[in-house]
Amino acid sequence: MADRFYLTTAIFYPSPSPPLHSLYEAIGADALARYRRLSGADTRFLTGMDEHSAQVERQAAELDTAPQELIDGWAAAWRAAFDRFAISYDRFIRTTDADHVLASVEMVRRAMAGGDIYKGTYSGWYCIGDNEFKTDAQIVDRRCPDHPTLELQWLEEENYFFRLSAYQKRLEALYRDNPSFCEPEHFRREVLGWLREGLRDFSISRAGGTWGIPFPDDPTHRIYVWFDALTNYLTGAGFPDDAEAFARWWPADVHVIGMNITRFHCLYWPAMLMSAGIELPKQVFAHGFMTLRGEKMSKTRGNVVDPEDAIAQFGVDGTRYLVMREIPYDRGGDMTEDGLVRRYNAELANDLGNLVNRTVSMTARYLASELPTLAADAPADKELQVTAAALVARYHEAMSGLHFDEALAAVMELTAAANGYAESQAPWTLEKRGEAGRLGQVLAVMAETCRILGHLVAPFTPTAARALHQQLGTPAPYDERGAGGPALATLLEWGGGAPGPRTTGAAVPLFPRVELPETVG
Ligand SMILES: [Zn+2]
Repeated sequence: MADRFYLTTAIFYPSPSPPLHSLYEAIGADALARYRRLSGADTRFLTGMDEHSAQVERQAAELDTAPQELIDGWAAAWRAAFDRFAISYDRFIRTTDADHVLASVEMVRRAMAGGDIYKGTYSGWYCIGDNEFKTDAQIVDRRCPDHPTLELQWLEEENYFFRLSAYQKRLEALYRDNPSFCEPEHFRREVLGWLREGLRDFSISRAGGTWGIPFPDDPTHRIYVWFDALTNYLTGAGFPDDAEAFARWWPADVHVIGMNITRFHCLYWPAMLMSAGIELPKQVFAHGFMTLRGEKMSKTRGNVVDPEDAIAQFGVDGTRYLVMREIPYDRGGDMTEDGLVRRYNAELANDLGNLVNRTVSMTARYLASELPTLAADAPADKELQVTAAALVARYHEAMSGLHFDEALAAVMELTAAANGYAESQAPWTLEKRGEAGRLGQVLAVMAETCRILGHLVAPFTPTAARALHQQLGTPAPYDERGAGGPALATLLEWGGGAPGPRTTGAAVPLFPRVELPETVG
């Protein structure tokens, strides 16, 4: 049976439509899902929305509508945006889904049965922006630094607690035995710091209210955030009722999350699973955030990039490529509009786009679109072949570590090497001299490098990659989600997929140039 791979994003905080930084998380996870499918793994990709937020209840009240109705509209808009960005999820989970409600209740019941839930009084400053009580250390100028426009609220209430403190030793053992449970290392260090400070029990219910999953055996309470939200990863694998699916998909290979929720995924979540007697996921991978001109993107700062504007400028593939190439996934980073335009033009329009375009148009002009079988045994041909093999190896290593920027750097190096080859072998000169045999081989080598490049960029620019392979006369042997083809290792071999004599298609620019914006941002 084929390998299987189960990955998830976090479920997103509800809003009328996804901001670009949520899409950033989803695009990275999607590139990984596509890469795994191309590599031959039966892949399940879960994403979705965390719907039981106080924000939804409040907004629905303001709009005089039911929370469910409000959130149905938002979820539809998110799905549409994800589809537009070619996010190839298998399920868009919503925490109001019926099977999820069952899963959530089952997780609370298991923790209860294990003696890990008790009733206590909680009081503290509470931020409604991220739905959590804030410790003194987290409060700056009497505000939550992440939500400076919101007043903190002093809340005191009876609710149910999860005995996280009982898992101190077991979590210490987890990180001793399996340090890569939380990646990358710079975020793991932060988690280990919290672990050293000592774990405190956390509250898992809220009294009153109607928006949320009723707490088992106490309908005066609702299950609060963690036993609701985190449990989605189990629901998406078939928990608790579909034993066959659950055996197939759990444990997850990786939970991709934002760096602001490592505490919950790297400490709360494994303890909850231990309490329920469920195997832990193999890894939690936290990504950094994108900033725009040095500032965190946020509505309050008014510097949110509208995903539709990005598409209008760079296209779907161009936007996907740019955010993955420009901003290291593991650390996050800054972008500027000028920087994006420059990179798009340099790498996609000029280097890659032009390489493909001149390969296909010269084949049309000089060879009447008939490429000969690849033989390619001149020293320059072999040198490019060796370069390709080395860069493909680097690409695989980067992809499996979710270092997408480095994977794309390897792609661009191979592109540059192929353009250098074209300059040094000068097919236009061979044509003038009437060296038909060599001319055919040089173009076959260029086409072969383009074919390999197409598979390498397919997880990032799936539509352009398909067009690229079409133009080369080697249509992609997998479906639009990257599934169903021969293993990527075979496709990436020099001469793999047997590029024998074939007819190439019409040359159409893959990435039209973009003009620099006139106003300097
Ligand atoms: Zn906050």
